[in-house]
Amino acid sequence: MSKLISAIKRTLGTHAEPHVHFHQGTHAHLPEVCHEHTCGRPRLG
Ligand SMILES: [Zn+2]
Repeated sequence: MSKLISAIKRTLGTHAEPHVHFHQGTHAHLPEVCHEHTCGRPRLG
């Protein structure tokens, strides 16, 4: 199982989009993932 998790993490790391960021989501506890690096909305973090 840990081998599988390692593989997934490696894949995500390799293919992670550099401009992905988060916004305060419309749902209270969930941040919203945003892929638009040109968006002008305030970002989390
Ligand atoms: Zn955004």
